[in-house]
Amino acid sequence: MPSVHIKTYGCQMNERDSEQVSKMLTERGYQLVTDETEADVILLNTCSVRDMAEQKAIGKMGMLRKLRRNRPHLVLGYLGCMAQARGASLLQTSPHVDLVVGTQKFHRVADYVDDLLKTRMHALIDDERRAIVDTEEEAGSQSTIREQEVEAGQVTAFVSIMQGCNMHCAFCIVPQTRGEERGRTIEEITNEVRSLADRGVKEVTLLGQIVNLYGRHEFSKRDGISPFVQLLESVCAVDGIERVRFTSPHPIGYRDDLIEAFARLPELVEHVHLPLQSGSDRILKIMRRGYTSEKFQKLAERIRAARPGMAITTDVIVGFPGETEEDYQQTRALCDAVSFDNAFIFRYSPRQNTPAATMEDQISEELKEARNQDLLQLVNRHVADKLNALVGTQSEILCEGASRHNSERLTGRTRTNKIVVFEGAPRHIGQIFPVKITRASGSTLYGDPAVLD
Ligand code: SF4
Repeated sequence: MPSVHIKTYGCQMNERDSEQVSKMLTERGYQLVTDETEADVILLNTCSVRDMAEQKAIGKMGMLRKLRRNRPHLVLGYLGCMAQARGASLLQTSPHVDLVVGTQKFHRVADYVDDLLKTRMHALIDDERRAIVDTEEEAGSQSTIREQEVEAGQVTAFVSIMQGCNMHCAFCIVPQTRGEERGRTIEEITNEVRSLADRGVKEVTLLGQIVNLYGRHEFSKRDGISPFVQLLESVCAVDGIERVRFTSPHPIGYRDDLIEAFARLPELVEHVHLPLQSGSDRILKIMRRGYTSEKFQKLAERIRAARPGMAITTDVIVGFPGETEEDYQQTRALCDAVSFDNAFIFRYSPRQNTPAATMEDQISEELKEARNQDLLQLVNRHVADKLNALVGTQSEILCEGASRHNSERLTGRTRTNKIVVFEGAPRHIGQIFPVKITRASGSTLYGDPAVLD
C-alpha cells in the first residue's frame, strides 16, 4: 500500500483542503503517514499570504529532496495557494518537484499522484521525470470539497461554503490564488452540516475568504435577507448543531440583517472576527478596504449591542507602504478604543502582482518590527484584562479532547472562542457544560468543572 504524507501551511481553508485530499487518497488505498521519511508521496499544501510562509514551504521542499536517496521513486508535490500563484515557475525554484496543483484542482490530486507514482516506480532515472502542473480555473470547483471524515469523538468541523474573493484589497494575494467568488448552494452546505451532525458534530465553522458576503452575486435576497443570513438560518436549524461560527469575514459584510441574526439565532456564538487592518483613514483608502475608522468603530459598537458578552477579534497590518507615525498612532488609538479580545498583528509583506508591492515608501523591517511589538503589548494588555475579568465566573465550554500541551488535561472553547484547560474525565469529551474559571494565564483560561455553584 503506498503511503502519503501531507504537510499543511496557512489557514483553516487549507486544513480543510488537505483533509479532502487525504480522504480521496485513502479511498484509493493510500495510507496516511505522519513520518515523512516513510512516505512514497509527500505533498506540501502551501500558503501565499505572507512571503515567510512561501519561503518555509520552498525551504522544506529543498530538504525533502534528500529523501530520494533512499526512496528514488518518492513523488513530491506542491498544492494550494503558492502553487496557484507561481505555477510552473516553481519547477525552476524546486526542479526536483513532480507535481504543482492549484486551488481549483484539489479534486484531481489523487489521479495525478497515481499516474506519477506508477511512472516513478518503473522509471527511476531523473531524465524521465516529467512534472505535472495544473493551475487552470475550473467551473464548479467550489463544490468539489464536500464529504469529510469525522473521527471518533470529533465534535467540531470546518465547512467550506465558498471560494475566492472579488475585493482586491491592495495588499492581498487571495484573489489571485483563490479566484473569483463562487458559493456552494445553501442546500448543498446544509446537507453537509446535517451529515456532520448525524456523526456527532456539535459545532461548525463556515469557511470562506469573504465569508459574510457569501452568494452576493449568485443567489437572491429573500425578504431583504442576504444569502449569507439565509444560510446561517438553515445551518442553525440543523438538529444537533449547537454552535455556529464563521471566518473570515469583511467588515462591510456585517449588514443589518447579519447583526440582527446575532440577536435571534442562539446557535450563532458570541464571537465575531472583524479585520481592521488599519486605523488610519488615509491608509484604509489606499488599501481599498471600503470603510473608515469611524464606521469600523460604530460597527463594533453595534455588534456588541446585538448580544451581551460578544467577543471581537481582529487582524491588523503594521508597516503598510507609506504608513507614517501618525497613521500608526491612529491604528493604535483605534485598537485601544475598541479593546479587542484578541488581535493578529502582521508586519506588511509584499505579495507579487499586488498593487501595494510596487508602492513607493516601503517601510523598513526594523520599523515594522517596532510597531508590531508596540501594538502587541497594547493588545496583550487588553487580552489579559478580558481573561482576568472572567476569573470567578462560569462559562459554557465545548470540550474538544486532550490539551495540546499537557495530555493529562482536557481543553475546550467558550462560545467566545477562548480556550479553557481543565482536569476532567473522558466523559467530558464532546460535551457542552459549564466550568468555573479559576485563573488566566497568557491567552488561556483554566477552569474546574467540579466546583460549579
Ligand atoms: S477581502 Fe480579504 S481575501 Fe478579499 S482581497 Fe481583501 S483581504 Fe484579501
